[in-house]
Amino acid sequence: MLKTFRGGVHPKDYKSIASEITVETMPPPQRVVIPVSQHIGAPGVPTVAVGDTVKKGQLIARADASMTSWVHASISGKVADIAEYPSSYKDKSLAVVIESDGLDEWAPDIPAVRDYESLSLEELHKLIGQAGLVGLGGANFPTHFKLTYGPEKHIDTLLINGSECEPYLNADYRVMMEETDRVVLGAKIAMKSLGVSRCIVGIEDNKPKAVEAMKKAFEGTGVQVAALPTKYPQGAERMFIKVLTGREIPEGKRHSDIGVVGLNVGSVAALANAVEKGVPLIERVITVSGDAIAAPKNLRVRIGTSFQDIVDYCGGFSRTPEKIINGGPMMGYAVRSLDIPVVKGVAGILVLSKDAVSHDEESPCIRCGKCVEACPAGLVPSMLSILSERGRHEEARRDYGLLNCIECGSCAYICPSKRRIVQYIRYSKSKNAGHGHK
Ligand code: SF4
Ligand code: SF4
Repeated sequence: MLKTFRGGVHPKDYKSIASEITVETMPPPQRVVIPVSQHIGAPGVPTVAVGDTVKKGQLIARADASMTSWVHASISGKVADIAEYPSSYKDKSLAVVIESDGLDEWAPDIPAVRDYESLSLEELHKLIGQAGLVGLGGANFPTHFKLTYGPEKHIDTLLINGSECEPYLNADYRVMMEETDRVVLGAKIAMKSLGVSRCIVGIEDNKPKAVEAMKKAFEGTGVQVAALPTKYPQGAERMFIKVLTGREIPEGKRHSDIGVVGLNVGSVAALANAVEKGVPLIERVITVSGDAIAAPKNLRVRIGTSFQDIVDYCGGFSRTPEKIINGGPMMGYAVRSLDIPVVKGVAGILVLSKDAVSHDEESPCIRCGKCVEACPAGLVPSMLSILSERGRHEEARRDYGLLNCIECGSCAYICPSKRRIVQYIRYSKSKNAGHGHK
Protein backbone atom coordinates (compact mmCIF):
# COMPACT_ATOMS: atom_id res chain seq x y z
CA MET A 1 0.00 0.00 0.00
CA LEU A 2 1.40 3.39 -1.00
CA LYS A 3 1.85 5.99 1.71
CA THR A 4 0.00 9.25 1.30
CA PHE A 5 1.33 12.79 1.71
CA ARG A 6 0.72 15.04 4.69
CA GLY A 7 -2.34 17.28 4.73
CA GLY A 8 -4.71 17.52 1.80
CA VAL A 9 -8.51 17.62 1.61
CA HIS A 10 -11.40 15.66 0.11
CA PRO A 11 -13.59 18.04 -1.91
CA LYS A 12 -16.66 16.62 -3.68
CA ASP A 13 -15.36 15.74 -7.13
CA TYR A 14 -18.36 16.36 -9.47
CA LYS A 15 -16.55 14.28 -12.07
CA SER A 16 -19.61 12.23 -12.99
CA ILE A 17 -21.13 15.26 -14.77
CA ALA A 18 -18.86 14.55 -17.75
CA SER A 19 -16.58 11.62 -16.94
CA GLU A 20 -18.33 9.08 -19.16
CA ILE A 21 -18.87 11.42 -22.10
CA THR A 22 -16.63 10.44 -25.02
CA VAL A 23 -14.32 13.13 -26.36
CA GLU A 24 -15.90 15.04 -29.22
CA THR A 25 -13.81 16.94 -31.75
CA MET A 26 -15.01 20.52 -32.07
CA PRO A 27 -14.85 21.74 -35.68
CA PRO A 28 -12.03 24.24 -36.27
CA PRO A 29 -13.17 27.78 -35.46
CA GLN A 30 -13.31 30.64 -37.95
CA ARG A 31 -10.66 32.55 -36.03
CA VAL A 32 -7.96 31.67 -33.53
CA VAL A 33 -5.92 33.93 -31.26
CA ILE A 34 -2.65 32.16 -30.47
CA PRO A 35 -0.46 33.76 -27.78
CA VAL A 36 3.28 33.46 -28.42
CA SER A 37 3.76 32.87 -24.70
CA GLN A 38 1.82 29.88 -23.37
CA HIS A 39 4.66 28.41 -21.36
CA ILE A 40 7.20 29.06 -18.64
CA GLY A 41 10.30 30.62 -20.19
CA ALA A 42 11.12 32.89 -23.09
CA PRO A 43 8.11 33.97 -25.18
CA GLY A 44 8.20 33.08 -28.85
CA VAL A 45 9.02 35.69 -31.46
CA PRO A 46 6.60 35.66 -34.42
CA THR A 47 8.03 34.07 -37.57
CA VAL A 48 5.08 35.22 -39.68
CA ALA A 49 3.73 38.65 -40.64
CA VAL A 50 0.26 40.10 -41.03
CA GLY A 51 -1.14 39.02 -44.40
CA ASP A 52 0.88 35.78 -44.59
CA THR A 53 -0.88 32.59 -45.56
CA VAL A 54 -0.30 29.81 -43.01
CA LYS A 55 -1.03 26.10 -42.89
CA LYS A 56 -2.08 23.99 -39.92
CA GLY A 57 0.99 22.91 -37.96
CA GLN A 58 3.23 25.63 -39.42
CA LEU A 59 5.65 27.32 -37.03
CA ILE A 60 4.43 30.83 -36.19
CA ALA A 61 6.64 31.78 -33.21
CA ARG A 62 9.89 30.59 -31.69
CA ALA A 63 12.67 31.78 -29.40
CA ASP A 64 16.30 30.78 -29.31
CA ALA A 65 16.42 29.87 -25.64
CA SER A 66 16.66 26.55 -23.82
CA MET A 67 13.56 27.28 -21.71
CA THR A 68 10.92 28.09 -24.29
CA SER A 69 8.41 26.35 -26.52
CA TRP A 70 7.62 26.74 -30.20
CA VAL A 71 4.16 27.87 -31.25
CA HIS A 72 2.31 26.60 -34.34
CA ALA A 73 -0.74 27.56 -36.37
CA SER A 74 -3.75 25.51 -35.29
CA ILE A 75 -5.80 26.22 -38.44
CA SER A 76 -4.94 27.14 -42.02
CA GLY A 77 -5.72 30.63 -43.25
CA LYS A 78 -4.36 34.15 -43.21
CA VAL A 79 -2.58 36.04 -40.43
CA ALA A 80 -5.04 38.84 -39.66
CA ASP A 81 -3.20 40.52 -36.80
CA ILE A 82 -0.19 40.30 -34.51
CA ALA A 83 -0.79 42.33 -31.38
CA GLU A 84 -1.42 42.19 -27.63
CA TYR A 85 -4.59 40.25 -26.80
CA PRO A 86 -6.18 39.07 -23.54
CA SER A 87 -4.98 35.56 -22.76
CA SER A 88 -5.99 32.71 -20.47
CA TYR A 89 -2.34 32.26 -19.40
CA LYS A 90 -1.30 35.84 -18.68
CA ASP A 91 -3.50 38.94 -18.56
CA LYS A 92 -2.29 39.93 -22.00
CA SER A 93 0.14 38.43 -24.46
CA LEU A 94 1.40 39.11 -27.93
CA ALA A 95 -0.70 36.85 -30.13
CA VAL A 96 -0.94 35.77 -33.75
CA VAL A 97 -4.52 35.97 -35.00
CA ILE A 98 -5.43 33.66 -37.88
CA GLU A 99 -8.63 33.86 -39.93
CA SER A 100 -9.56 30.46 -41.33
CA ASP A 101 -9.60 29.73 -45.07
CA GLY A 102 -12.00 26.88 -44.33
CA LEU A 103 -9.58 24.34 -45.82
CA ASP A 104 -7.86 23.15 -42.64
CA GLU A 105 -4.78 22.13 -44.66
CA TRP A 106 -1.64 20.74 -43.06
CA ALA A 107 1.76 22.32 -43.57
CA PRO A 108 4.08 20.34 -45.88
CA ASP A 109 5.51 17.13 -44.35
CA ILE A 110 2.69 16.82 -41.78
CA PRO A 111 1.57 14.25 -40.93
CA ALA A 112 4.71 12.18 -41.26
CA VAL A 113 5.30 8.52 -40.45
CA ARG A 114 8.24 7.79 -38.17
CA ASP A 115 9.52 4.91 -36.12
CA TYR A 116 10.89 6.39 -32.91
CA GLU A 117 13.10 3.36 -32.34
CA SER A 118 15.12 4.07 -35.48
CA LEU A 119 15.79 7.70 -34.48
CA SER A 120 19.09 8.69 -32.91
CA LEU A 121 18.89 10.45 -29.56
CA GLU A 122 19.90 13.68 -31.26
CA GLU A 123 17.15 13.34 -33.87
CA LEU A 124 14.62 12.50 -31.18
CA HIS A 125 15.55 15.51 -29.04
CA LYS A 126 15.38 17.78 -32.08
CA LEU A 127 11.88 16.57 -32.96
CA ILE A 128 10.67 17.01 -29.37
CA GLY A 129 12.16 20.52 -29.27
CA GLN A 130 10.27 21.53 -32.40
CA ALA A 131 6.87 20.17 -31.37
CA GLY A 132 5.73 22.95 -29.04
CA LEU A 133 4.93 20.53 -26.21
CA VAL A 134 4.24 21.89 -22.73
CA GLY A 135 2.83 20.34 -19.56
CA LEU A 136 -0.87 19.88 -20.30
CA GLY A 137 -1.75 19.46 -16.63
CA GLY A 138 -1.57 23.23 -16.28
CA ALA A 139 2.10 23.60 -15.38
CA ASN A 140 3.00 24.97 -18.83
CA PHE A 141 6.56 23.73 -18.36
CA PRO A 142 8.25 23.10 -21.75
CA THR A 143 8.33 19.31 -22.22
CA HIS A 144 11.50 19.23 -24.31
CA PHE A 145 13.39 20.89 -21.45
CA LYS A 146 12.39 17.97 -19.20
CA LEU A 147 13.16 15.29 -21.77
CA THR A 148 16.63 16.45 -22.72
CA TYR A 149 18.38 16.62 -19.34
CA GLY A 150 22.04 15.68 -19.55
CA PRO A 151 23.71 12.85 -17.57
CA GLU A 152 24.72 15.32 -14.82
CA LYS A 153 21.10 15.29 -13.62
CA HIS A 154 21.18 11.51 -13.00
CA ILE A 155 17.54 11.11 -13.98
CA ASP A 156 16.53 7.53 -13.21
CA THR A 157 12.72 7.65 -13.03
CA LEU A 158 9.91 8.81 -15.30
CA LEU A 159 6.57 9.42 -13.60
CA ILE A 160 3.40 9.76 -15.64
CA ASN A 161 0.70 11.71 -13.90
CA GLY A 162 -2.88 10.58 -14.42
CA SER A 163 -4.11 11.76 -11.01
CA GLU A 164 -6.33 14.58 -12.26
CA CYS A 165 -7.33 15.43 -8.70
CA GLU A 166 -9.14 18.69 -9.54
CA PRO A 167 -12.92 18.36 -9.19
CA TYR A 168 -14.99 18.40 -12.42
CA LEU A 169 -12.06 17.79 -14.80
CA ASN A 170 -11.93 14.62 -16.91
CA ALA A 171 -9.56 15.48 -19.77
CA ASP A 172 -6.77 13.20 -18.54
CA TYR A 173 -9.24 10.46 -17.68
CA ARG A 174 -10.64 10.50 -21.22
CA VAL A 175 -7.13 10.46 -22.72
CA MET A 176 -6.32 7.37 -20.64
CA MET A 177 -9.56 5.70 -21.72
CA GLU A 178 -9.55 6.69 -25.39
CA GLU A 179 -5.89 7.23 -26.33
CA THR A 180 -4.43 4.34 -24.40
CA ASP A 181 -2.05 3.35 -27.21
CA ARG A 182 -0.80 6.96 -27.49
CA VAL A 183 0.01 7.05 -23.78
CA VAL A 184 1.95 3.77 -24.04
CA LEU A 185 3.90 4.93 -27.10
CA GLY A 186 4.57 8.35 -25.55
CA ALA A 187 5.88 6.70 -22.38
CA LYS A 188 8.29 4.56 -24.42
CA ILE A 189 9.50 7.63 -26.34
CA ALA A 190 9.99 9.62 -23.13
CA MET A 191 11.93 6.72 -21.57
CA LYS A 192 14.21 6.55 -24.60
CA SER A 193 14.70 10.32 -24.58
CA LEU A 194 15.68 10.25 -20.89
CA GLY A 195 17.58 6.97 -21.03
CA VAL A 196 15.63 5.53 -18.10
CA SER A 197 14.18 2.07 -17.59
CA ARG A 198 11.99 2.91 -14.59
CA CYS A 199 8.57 4.37 -15.30
CA ILE A 200 5.48 4.55 -13.08
CA VAL A 201 2.01 5.75 -14.07
CA GLY A 202 0.06 7.11 -11.08
CA ILE A 203 -3.74 7.36 -11.18
CA GLU A 204 -6.11 8.21 -8.31
CA ASP A 205 -8.19 5.22 -7.26
CA ASN A 206 -11.45 7.08 -7.96
CA LYS A 207 -10.79 6.23 -11.65
CA PRO A 208 -10.78 2.42 -11.52
CA LYS A 209 -11.59 2.04 -15.24
CA ALA A 210 -8.54 4.11 -16.18
CA VAL A 211 -6.34 2.14 -13.78
CA GLU A 212 -7.58 -1.07 -15.41
CA ALA A 213 -7.14 0.25 -18.98
CA MET A 214 -3.61 1.47 -18.28
CA LYS A 215 -2.60 -1.75 -16.50
CA LYS A 216 -3.75 -3.78 -19.48
CA ALA A 217 -2.09 -1.47 -22.01
CA PHE A 218 1.27 -1.46 -20.21
CA GLU A 219 1.32 -5.22 -19.61
CA GLY A 220 4.70 -6.70 -20.45
CA THR A 221 6.40 -3.31 -20.88
CA GLY A 222 7.96 -3.12 -17.42
CA VAL A 223 6.04 0.09 -16.73
CA GLN A 224 4.25 0.03 -13.38
CA VAL A 225 0.71 1.39 -13.02
CA ALA A 226 -0.15 2.48 -9.47
CA ALA A 227 -3.58 3.33 -8.03
CA LEU A 228 -3.09 6.22 -5.60
CA PRO A 229 -5.32 7.04 -2.63
CA THR A 230 -7.75 9.74 -3.70
CA LYS A 231 -6.87 12.93 -1.89
CA TYR A 232 -6.48 16.46 -3.16
CA PRO A 233 -3.86 17.67 -4.32
CA GLN A 234 -2.53 14.22 -5.23
CA GLY A 235 -1.62 15.38 -8.74
CA ALA A 236 0.57 18.28 -7.59
CA GLU A 237 4.13 17.48 -8.62
CA ARG A 238 5.67 17.46 -5.15
CA MET A 239 2.98 15.22 -3.68
CA PHE A 240 2.93 12.92 -6.69
CA ILE A 241 6.70 12.38 -6.57
CA LYS A 242 6.72 11.90 -2.81
CA VAL A 243 3.97 9.27 -2.87
CA LEU A 244 5.41 7.28 -5.79
CA THR A 245 9.13 7.46 -5.03
CA GLY A 246 9.45 8.61 -1.41
CA ARG A 247 11.72 11.43 -2.64
CA GLU A 248 11.16 15.04 -1.62
CA ILE A 249 12.07 18.11 -3.64
CA PRO A 250 14.21 20.33 -1.38
CA GLU A 251 13.24 23.98 -1.02
CA GLY A 252 14.24 26.00 -4.07
CA LYS A 253 14.94 22.89 -6.18
CA ARG A 254 13.18 21.10 -9.00
CA HIS A 255 12.12 17.53 -9.77
CA SER A 256 15.26 17.06 -11.87
CA ASP A 257 17.44 17.70 -8.82
CA ILE A 258 16.17 14.46 -7.29
CA GLY A 259 16.47 12.36 -10.44
CA VAL A 260 12.81 12.40 -11.43
CA VAL A 261 10.92 13.68 -14.45
CA GLY A 262 7.14 13.89 -14.28
CA LEU A 263 4.85 14.23 -17.28
CA ASN A 264 1.09 14.56 -17.50
CA VAL A 265 -0.71 11.74 -19.41
CA GLY A 266 -2.02 14.22 -21.97
CA SER A 267 1.51 15.49 -22.59
CA VAL A 268 2.70 11.91 -23.08
CA ALA A 269 -0.03 11.26 -25.69
CA ALA A 270 0.89 14.53 -27.43
CA LEU A 271 4.55 13.46 -27.41
CA ALA A 272 3.61 10.26 -29.25
CA ASN A 273 1.80 12.25 -31.94
CA ALA A 274 4.67 14.71 -32.26
CA VAL A 275 7.35 12.07 -32.73
CA GLU A 276 5.48 9.36 -34.62
CA LYS A 277 3.34 11.60 -36.84
CA GLY A 278 5.26 14.87 -36.77
CA VAL A 279 2.15 16.66 -35.50
CA PRO A 280 2.98 19.60 -33.22
CA LEU A 281 0.78 20.56 -30.28
CA ILE A 282 -2.07 22.45 -31.95
CA GLU A 283 -5.02 20.97 -30.08
CA ARG A 284 -5.87 19.45 -26.72
CA VAL A 285 -8.69 17.78 -24.80
CA ILE A 286 -10.58 19.94 -22.30
CA THR A 287 -13.59 19.35 -20.05
CA VAL A 288 -16.47 21.82 -20.21
CA SER A 289 -18.59 21.27 -17.13
CA GLY A 290 -20.56 22.85 -14.30
CA ASP A 291 -24.24 23.28 -13.46
CA ALA A 292 -24.77 26.27 -15.76
CA ILE A 293 -23.52 24.88 -19.09
CA ALA A 294 -26.27 23.46 -21.31
CA ALA A 295 -24.35 20.40 -22.54
CA PRO A 296 -21.25 19.37 -20.56
CA LYS A 297 -18.65 17.84 -22.86
CA ASN A 298 -15.12 16.59 -23.17
CA LEU A 299 -13.86 18.36 -26.26
CA ARG A 300 -10.82 18.25 -28.49
CA VAL A 301 -10.27 21.91 -29.37
CA ARG A 302 -7.73 23.82 -31.41
CA ILE A 303 -5.32 26.01 -29.46
CA GLY A 304 -6.49 29.61 -29.82
CA THR A 305 -10.22 28.80 -29.89
CA SER A 306 -12.10 31.36 -27.81
CA PHE A 307 -13.91 30.39 -24.61
CA GLN A 308 -17.00 32.00 -26.18
CA ASP A 309 -16.90 29.66 -29.21
CA ILE A 310 -16.56 26.68 -26.87
CA VAL A 311 -19.45 27.75 -24.63
CA ASP A 312 -21.60 28.30 -27.74
CA TYR A 313 -20.65 24.86 -29.04
CA CYS A 314 -21.82 23.39 -25.74
CA GLY A 315 -25.25 24.98 -26.20
CA GLY A 316 -24.58 28.11 -24.16
CA PHE A 317 -25.75 28.62 -20.59
CA SER A 318 -28.55 26.54 -19.11
CA ARG A 319 -28.95 29.11 -16.32
CA THR A 320 -27.33 32.39 -15.39
CA PRO A 321 -23.64 31.80 -14.74
CA GLU A 322 -22.28 33.30 -11.55
CA LYS A 323 -18.69 32.30 -12.16
CA ILE A 324 -16.69 30.95 -15.10
CA ILE A 325 -13.40 29.29 -14.25
CA ASN A 326 -10.37 28.55 -16.39
CA GLY A 327 -9.35 25.15 -14.98
CA GLY A 328 -10.71 23.46 -11.88
CA PRO A 329 -12.38 25.06 -8.85
CA MET A 330 -9.38 24.53 -6.56
CA MET A 331 -6.48 25.88 -8.62
CA GLY A 332 -8.24 27.56 -11.52
CA TYR A 333 -8.86 31.25 -12.14
CA ALA A 334 -12.18 33.03 -12.48
CA VAL A 335 -12.35 34.70 -15.88
CA ARG A 336 -13.94 38.08 -16.48
CA SER A 337 -14.57 37.63 -20.19
CA LEU A 338 -15.13 34.75 -22.59
CA ASP A 339 -13.10 36.62 -25.18
CA ILE A 340 -9.92 34.74 -24.29
CA PRO A 341 -8.35 31.82 -26.13
CA VAL A 342 -7.67 28.29 -24.96
CA VAL A 343 -3.92 27.91 -24.53
CA LYS A 344 -1.98 24.68 -24.12
CA GLY A 345 -2.33 24.58 -20.33
CA VAL A 346 -6.13 24.97 -20.19
CA ALA A 347 -7.60 21.66 -18.97
CA GLY A 348 -11.17 22.79 -18.56
CA ILE A 349 -13.80 25.50 -18.48
CA LEU A 350 -16.29 25.46 -15.61
CA VAL A 351 -19.55 27.35 -15.78
CA LEU A 352 -21.12 27.61 -12.34
CA SER A 353 -24.44 29.06 -11.21
CA LYS A 354 -24.90 30.94 -7.95
CA ASP A 355 -25.95 27.66 -6.31
CA ALA A 356 -22.55 26.15 -7.00
CA VAL A 357 -20.52 29.12 -5.81
CA SER A 358 -19.84 29.96 -2.18
CA HIS A 359 -21.27 33.31 -1.11
CA ASP A 360 -19.98 33.17 2.43
CA GLU A 361 -18.47 36.40 3.64
CA GLU A 362 -14.87 36.32 4.76
CA SER A 363 -14.39 36.81 8.50
CA PRO A 364 -11.32 37.14 10.73
CA CYS A 365 -9.13 34.13 11.41
CA ILE A 366 -10.25 32.24 14.53
CA ARG A 367 -6.91 30.40 14.76
CA CYS A 368 -8.50 26.98 14.55
CA GLY A 369 -5.43 25.52 12.82
CA LYS A 370 -7.43 23.63 10.20
CA CYS A 371 -5.52 25.26 7.34
CA VAL A 372 -2.22 24.19 8.89
CA GLU A 373 -3.43 20.59 9.09
CA ALA A 374 -4.59 20.71 5.46
CA CYS A 375 -1.52 22.34 3.93
CA PRO A 376 0.42 19.68 1.98
CA ALA A 377 3.45 21.98 1.82
CA GLY A 378 3.77 22.18 5.61
CA LEU A 379 3.12 25.93 5.73
CA VAL A 380 1.09 28.11 8.10
CA PRO A 381 -1.49 29.50 5.66
CA SER A 382 -3.27 31.58 8.33
CA MET A 383 -0.03 33.46 9.01
CA LEU A 384 0.67 33.95 5.31
CA SER A 385 -2.77 35.49 4.80
CA ILE A 386 -2.41 37.79 7.81
CA LEU A 387 1.06 38.95 6.75
CA SER A 388 -0.28 39.64 3.27
CA GLU A 389 -3.17 41.70 4.68
CA ARG A 390 -0.67 43.72 6.69
CA GLY A 391 1.64 44.26 3.72
CA ARG A 392 4.47 42.24 5.30
CA HIS A 393 5.22 40.35 2.10
CA GLU A 394 8.97 40.03 2.52
CA GLU A 395 8.54 38.53 5.97
CA ALA A 396 6.08 36.01 4.51
CA ARG A 397 8.73 34.92 2.02
CA ARG A 398 11.71 35.03 4.35
CA ASP A 399 10.22 33.46 7.47
CA TYR A 400 7.10 31.56 6.39
CA GLY A 401 8.02 29.81 3.14
CA LEU A 402 5.66 31.84 0.96
CA LEU A 403 7.33 30.64 -2.24
CA ASN A 404 6.82 26.99 -1.30
CA CYS A 405 3.07 27.45 -1.56
CA ILE A 406 1.79 25.48 -4.55
CA GLU A 407 -1.51 27.43 -4.53
CA CYS A 408 -3.51 24.23 -4.19
CA GLY A 409 -6.33 25.96 -2.29
CA SER A 410 -6.67 23.25 0.39
CA CYS A 411 -6.35 25.88 3.13
CA ALA A 412 -9.09 28.12 1.72
CA TYR A 413 -11.33 25.10 1.12
CA ILE A 414 -11.14 23.98 4.75
CA CYS A 415 -11.20 27.42 6.40
CA PRO A 416 -14.38 27.99 8.50
CA SER A 417 -13.84 31.76 8.26
CA LYS A 418 -13.86 31.48 4.44
CA ARG A 419 -10.68 33.47 4.23
CA ARG A 420 -9.44 34.00 0.69
CA ILE A 421 -6.05 32.67 1.63
CA VAL A 422 -4.86 31.85 -1.90
CA GLN A 423 -5.64 35.35 -3.14
CA TYR A 424 -3.62 36.77 -0.24
CA ILE A 425 -0.75 34.42 -1.04
CA ARG A 426 -0.79 35.23 -4.75
CA TYR A 427 -0.71 38.90 -3.92
CA SER A 428 2.27 38.45 -1.60
CA LYS A 429 4.04 36.41 -4.26
CA SER A 430 3.51 39.18 -6.79
CA LYS A 431 5.12 41.56 -4.29
CA ASN A 432 8.10 39.20 -4.07
CA ALA A 433 8.57 38.92 -7.84
CA GLY A 434 12.21 38.23 -8.63
CA HIS A 435 12.61 35.83 -5.72
CA GLY A 436 11.18 32.80 -7.57
CA HIS A 437 12.48 29.27 -7.32
CA LYS A 438 15.34 28.23 -9.50
S1 SF4 B 1 -0.72 27.56 1.84
FE1 SF4 B 1 -0.49 27.09 -0.31
S2 SF4 B 1 0.23 24.97 -0.38
FE2 SF4 B 1 -0.61 25.33 1.67
S3 SF4 B 1 -2.74 24.66 1.52
FE3 SF4 B 1 -2.72 26.87 1.11
S4 SF4 B 1 -2.59 27.01 -1.10
FE4 SF4 B 1 -2.00 24.90 -0.58
S1 SF4 C 1 -8.51 27.66 8.83
FE1 SF4 C 1 -9.07 29.81 8.61
S2 SF4 C 1 -9.78 30.40 10.62
FE2 SF4 C 1 -8.68 28.47 10.89
S3 SF4 C 1 -6.56 29.10 11.37
FE3 SF4 C 1 -6.67 28.86 9.18
S4 SF4 C 1 -7.11 30.90 8.38
FE4 SF4 C 1 -7.62 30.91 10.55
